[in-house]
Amino acid sequence: MKTYSRLLMFAKPYGKFVIPFFVCTLFASFFSVFQFALIIPLLNFLFDHSTVESLQKYATAPSFSFSAGYFKDLFYYQVHHLKIMNPVYALYFIAALIVLAVLLTNIFRYLAQRSMVNARTMLVKKIREAIFEKINRLHMGYFTKEKKGDLLSRMNADVFEIEAVAGNSLEILFKEPYLLIAYFIGLFVISAKLTFFTLLIIPVSAIGIAMVTKKLRKEASDMQSSIGKLLTIIDETLMGMRIIRSFNATGFVINRFRTENDFYRKASLQGFKKRELAPIFSEVSGVIVVACILIYGGSMILRNNGAGNTGLQASEFIAFIAIFSQVIRPAKAMVVALANIQRGEASGQRILDVLDTKIEVEDHPGAIALSAFKKSIQFKNVCFSYNDKPVLKHISFEIEKGKTVALVGPSGVGKSTIADLLPRFYDVTSGSICIDGKDIRSYTMDSIRSHMSFVTQDIILFNDSIFNNIALGKPDASMEEVIRAATIANAHEFIMDTEEGYQTNIGDRGIRLSGGQRQRLSIARAVFKNPAILILDEATSSLDTESEKLVQDALNNLMQGRTTLVIAHRLSTIKEADEILILQDGKIVERGSHFDLIELEESIYKKLTLMQKIA
Ligand code: ADP
Repeated sequence: MKTYSRLLMFAKPYGKFVIPFFVCTLFASFFSVFQFALIIPLLNFLFDHSTVESLQKYATAPSFSFSAGYFKDLFYYQVHHLKIMNPVYALYFIAALIVLAVLLTNIFRYLAQRSMVNARTMLVKKIREAIFEKINRLHMGYFTKEKKGDLLSRMNADVFEIEAVAGNSLEILFKEPYLLIAYFIGLFVISAKLTFFTLLIIPVSAIGIAMVTKKLRKEASDMQSSIGKLLTIIDETLMGMRIIRSFNATGFVINRFRTENDFYRKASLQGFKKRELAPIFSEVSGVIVVACILIYGGSMILRNNGAGNTGLQASEFIAFIAIFSQVIRPAKAMVVALANIQRGEASGQRILDVLDTKIEVEDHPGAIALSAFKKSIQFKNVCFSYNDKPVLKHISFEIEKGKTVALVGPSGVGKSTIADLLPRFYDVTSGSICIDGKDIRSYTMDSIRSHMSFVTQDIILFNDSIFNNIALGKPDASMEEVIRAATIANAHEFIMDTEEGYQTNIGDRGIRLSGGQRQRLSIARAVFKNPAILILDEATSSLDTESEKLVQDALNNLMQGRTTLVIAHRLSTIKEADEILILQDGKIVERGSHFDLIELEESIYKKLTLMQKIA
């Protein structure tokens, strides 16, 4: 319940939905009881129960008082009046009232439903937004730990679940108990004795149902996490289709999917078996109650016939049964909703888990904006571990403004990690990174990042126009600025060759462009941002020679006058760097310019250059 009370906060302010819902449900409940109460005069009329007293009583119009009795008398007066003129008129009158009552019941029910849907959609919208915003603020480390599919499932399946359950639980909180009360008032008015009798039997069935629904939570949780895994497998398969086919791994992937899908089926089957037990309990117990009423009420009527007209009339008894049959529906709806609430609680918890995740990399209190990068970037004795796995050990170096420092070393040595520490995708475990002599943690993250551009091997493009991909996050950019950036990045020509130039949509992840073109677009994006600091992470390593030359030219243009940290496998691309750092086992083992390092006897760098035939 705590989960729900927290989630329902997202539907605030409640007043907008609750008041119209409350008022409409009140009217809907009233007319709903009224339409069944009309059975009594109808039956009385058809089976002509009018007595001498009743004929006398309803011969004149009743005097006004604001009570149920007055309206009842007025109604009977009208019926008698019409009956005297023409009995069929009275029948029309009653029939028209029944239609009117049903119509009004449904109109008010619809209006109540509308305000509930309004609340529900608002709730879901706000929950989705909250998760999405949270994902955008969470530290990078979170995303490797939590699988993508799992997050997708939390945003989709779990939110849908809450949507369904929230609708139901709101109904439980307001509408159904309300209707039940209205029906019971109707029942009491007809016969208090019979109503007390029915109340005795209902709690027995409620206990049985509560026991079944309690067990539902575990299956629900299993189901949702299994959906997450399924989504991950589908996503991985779609992304890696080429690799899967070429390695003949189709069977393996299908098997993995089948196992997980099987697990999902079993979990949902278990959940279904238990969930569907609940209505059986309620239905059977409902019918037992009706049977008991038939026996008890029926015998009251049988007794009446022998002992005057003091008890229940047959018409009233039929109306009683008709209303009572309506009691079963909301009672059943409440039971189903209770079961769903148990199920939804697991989803709610999974949503709150994401919302409650602590953001590990945040602006420190009192952080100031870095207005301009003036002097240098310094890594001072930096150590870093992913969870408990040490990756960087005592790394110290400096990049002066306008200079280029290159990182070289085998794969997995920690080069990308160094690059990720600078924009604070992660925070150092010990040591510090300073910009212009001050720890980067004393600046706001946004301000640090506003001075940096990343160009990486994984090119991230969005399913949008070329213009918007270059001017990322700045839709009001001018065309001249974007063209200038594209020209520097050697991209203008190929952009003009596309169908709609800068307005061409590049498709999902830029699928309609070649690797080199995509990279040049990402360089144009970096040029457009015009940052003081550049981080280049193996930007040319996946390209063919011709594309590489175009991209390298673009990069050289981009690096003009900027401070650059570059990671490269191909040493030819970093010959001009002011300092080259050779990394091994998370440490810097050699450092100096290309010529310094070439001069060194037995240097690792020398070996690498010989391997790559660079002198
Ligand atoms: P490089 O760029 O030199 O290839 P990385 O900086 O990418 O190396 O990785 C350094 C080490 O840290 C590797 O052993 C890698 O497996 C590990 N690593 C990288 N990213 C993560 C992460 N998000 N969580 C845990 N370990 C990671």
